Amino acid sequence: MILVVNAGSSSIKVALFKSDLTEVLKGQVSGIGGSLAHIELGADDKNITAPDHDVALKAILASLDAQGIKTKDLTAAAHRVVHGGTSLVQPCRVTDDVIAGIEAATPLAPLHNPNNLAGIRALQTLAPDLPQYASFGTAFHATNPDVATAYAIPKKDRDMGIRRYGFHGLSYAWIVTQFEDKLPNRLLAFHLGSGASLCAIHHGKSVATSMGYSPLDGLTMGTRSGAIDGMAVLRMAEIHGADEASRRLNKDSGLKGLGGANDMRLLLAADTEQAKFAVDHFCYWAARHAGSAIVAMGGVDAVAFTGGIGENSAEIRDRIMTHLKFLGDVPLHVIKADEERQIAVDAATLGAS
Ligand code: ADP
Repeated sequence: MILVVNAGSSSIKVALFKSDLTEVLKGQVSGIGGSLAHIELGADDKNITAPDHDVALKAILASLDAQGIKTKDLTAAAHRVVHGGTSLVQPCRVTDDVIAGIEAATPLAPLHNPNNLAGIRALQTLAPDLPQYASFGTAFHATNPDVATAYAIPKKDRDMGIRRYGFHGLSYAWIVTQFEDKLPNRLLAFHLGSGASLCAIHHGKSVATSMGYSPLDGLTMGTRSGAIDGMAVLRMAEIHGADEASRRLNKDSGLKGLGGANDMRLLLAADTEQAKFAVDHFCYWAARHAGSAIVAMGGVDAVAFTGGIGENSAEIRDRIMTHLKFLGDVPLHVIKADEERQIAVDAATLGAS
């Protein structure tokens, strides 16, 4: 059985898959590092003490054990790692070199990669013989051409790793997996959740995506601004200081900044001008960025929607597609996001069972 691990700053989400990739159970420890943590996994639902990721993963293994799933029955652990940088562009078995690569990419994802590494290291201690694998959130976009990834900035800055990487790659890889042998040549895929992005998928490969150096760029999101002029960012940094400007752009902007709430359901239900404007902005900019992605593919043969908004809101899908009606009749697909299963598929493809 493959244990998929998604280690965040205060939570570790896990999902357990059989070798035929059927899901056995999923759950999480939340509140890691706080005064009271909580485990919700299969039959378990209780408060625990989990000061760090080591203790949290120990609690997960103990909970599985108590539910009849012994650590020795696990055949692999497969981790979600947010940023693979320029070197980790394929799912892979975790080795010392891979750990060094994840560490090297940490300046690019300082809030995420250290947690992912903490999950890997905790399992190395708790289950030293368990093979571990890693799938990277950025890797799917490694096929973007240089012209799409380069910012037109001085070479010295480009050499410092300041370029577009793109995110939500596991979600896009899962969409491709779902089409099996019926994948359209030019697929425009929208991942619309609290984070939102889109991807131009040409013959199964990402050729352009809306997020860039960080997940801030591109579409209007739940709390992130989406695309904004660098000089406007610098002005905000002048006014507020860099940390506060970053917090505002990532946590107080987007639907929240425009409409007062980051939850699309609330905005759709609200009858206020500002809520309506926030939803208009979301749909308009999703379509504006779609135009750019369609150019990167030289046209479009199908559109796919995934993520909490993309899967559940026919209204938002319709409104985005209305902006794109000049394209004519384009087949539309709604695909349930399942990044965990994609991570299990990646590990299984590498030999885990
Ligand atoms: P995350 O990126 O945190 O995993 P999700 O993919 O779950 O987020 O998406 C969360 C977003 O999906 C929220 O804005 C939520 O309001 C929205 N959402 C969920 N269900 C619906 C629905 N039926 N209609 C509109 N929006 C929805």
